[in-house]
Order: sequence, then structure tokens, then C-alpha cells
Amino acid sequence: MLSQFQAVGQALFTQGLVSSQGGNLSVKLGEHLLITHRGSALGSIQEGDLVETGITKNSRATPLASTELEVHRCIYQNTSALAVVHAHPPYAVALSFTEKEIIPCDVEGRALLAKVPVLSTNMAEKLGELAEDIARLLKEHRVVLVRGHGSFAASQLLEEAYYYTTVLEQSCRLLYLLKALGVAPR
Ligand SMILES: [Zn+2]
Repeated sequence: MLSQFQAVGQALFTQGLVSSQGGNLSVKLGEHLLITHRGSALGSIQEGDLVETGITKNSRATPLASTELEVHRCIYQNTSALAVVHAHPPYAVALSFTEKEIIPCDVEGRALLAKVPVLSTNMAEKLGELAEDIARLLKEHRVVLVRGHGSFAASQLLEEAYYYTTVLEQSCRLLYLLKALGVAPR
């Protein structure tokens, strides 16, 4: 399990999809979840960087968990997901300011994501307040974008949720380039 967190964390960091201490990862283990430590560096996850706590119940370790624990919990309570990747992909976040939804125009993005909703939020709002909206949208979509913040991808495997995140960013980079060239994507 640790090696999956390490592989995905390092890949997210080296591809610039999170900053040195941004983003968070979790997997569901029955009534528990394993989530990255508050402020942990995804690029160099060690065993002590993973925190186990309840999906609904707190444990002694709960205060150590990522600040976005509430969103991860809500996703597991309301969807069939077993893994969640939260990242800050720059092109996707840039487009989140101007788009209400991301509709990929590349083959991979279309096939895999079809449509990625953008949750609008006033910047003062805490992410925890959006937890239910994020979970609701993840019932029907593989990835959700939070305006001005980042992406939440949910799947059965950490590796797969990571893959969806990279596809979103790739699609958004293409959409951005087309916009810059003044070309309509469709
Ligand atoms: Zn974040």
C-alpha cells in the first residue's frame, strides 16, 4: 500500500500537478481510510506520512490527517470509490476560473472523462463546506474541479484516480492552447 502512495505521490509532484506540500491521497479500507499526513510532501512519502482514521469516526490520529480529510470522508460515505486523488493541476485550475464545466476535445479525455464539472465557490469558502457537493458530483463523474483550487478524482484504485487527474490536465492544456491560438475546440 505504501508503495502505491509513493508512486502516485512522486508522479504528481514531478509532473507539477501538486506543489511540494500540496495535494493529498487516500484509500478506503473497510470502515477506515488511509490518508496522507497534514502538510506531507507527496513527492517523498514515508511510512509515517500515512494516517489511518475512521470513515465516520475519529481516532487519536485524526488531527494528523490532511486538512482535506472531510472531503475524502464525504466521498467514501456517498460513493463507491475506494481511492481519491486531490491535486492542483495548473491548466485545469486556470480553466476553472473561466469555465462552468470542462469538456475535453481530445480522444482520451472524451473517452475517459466526457465532462468534468467545475464547482464554483467564493474563495473564502472552506473546502469542507463543499464536501457534499464534491461527493454528489463524483457519483456521476470521475473527476470534479473546484474553482481556483484543484481536482478531486475518485476511483477503485489510487493509480486509476491518478490517471484521471493526468488526463484532465492534458485535456485542459490542449483546451488552453487552442484558446490561445484562437481556435474553437469543436
Ligand atoms: Zn488542495
